[in-house]
Amino acid sequence: MDTMALRNLTYGMFVLGTKNGDRPTGCTVNTVIQVTSDPILIMACVNHQNFTNQCIKQSKGFSVSILSEETPGSVIGNFGFRSGRDTDKFASIPYFLTPEGYPVLKLNTCGWLECKLESFTDLKTHTLFIGSLTGAEAGTAGAASGNPMTYAYYHRVVKGKAPANAPIFEKPLESLWTCPICGYQYDGSAGPFGDLPHSWKCPICGAGKDAFKLNKA
Ligand code: FE
Repeated sequence: MDTMALRNLTYGMFVLGTKNGDRPTGCTVNTVIQVTSDPILIMACVNHQNFTNQCIKQSKGFSVSILSEETPGSVIGNFGFRSGRDTDKFASIPYFLTPEGYPVLKLNTCGWLECKLESFTDLKTHTLFIGSLTGAEAGTAGAASGNPMTYAYYHRVVKGKAPANAPIFEKPLESLWTCPICGYQYDGSAGPFGDLPHSWKCPICGAGKDAFKLNKA
């Protein structure tokens, strides 16, 4: 079995929003799809360990912010590498609430969905949520291109910091300082890694400079 075939499946990048009581929370996911059109049902998949998981079960609904290619890595990291249990992930992020009170990112989105939870199935590591569409808006608020970000684009351009059209897969690997938490690779744009100040942090997940590891090709 060649599991490399799975890498050719396509995914998007989304912030799944929900609420803990009246407090908005959410997380970054790459698994949101429309599964039927009549009625319109949306599927989203979230790890059991994620606070968003239990909040969707309790609030019985969720929103989907469809991220654009302009979404900064720091925004994706804000929702992806911290827990909403003890952090207000929306504290520094402009957002609005859908009619049912689910948070949607104001900037860098190509549109949003609001869903009422219809059913869920607990898998070994994740919960598969099925929601019926109760609200939606297409838009390019704050996005220069309005192109939806794919998971592959995120890995290649946002996390890898390669120029959008760089054929990075054809280049030999170089020694890179890499964040062990989120996988971000320092691109050298602020000078040699060793010269960065001690206060420098991973732009994606906020890990300290000391946490970085040198990967040798
Ligand atoms: Fe990181």
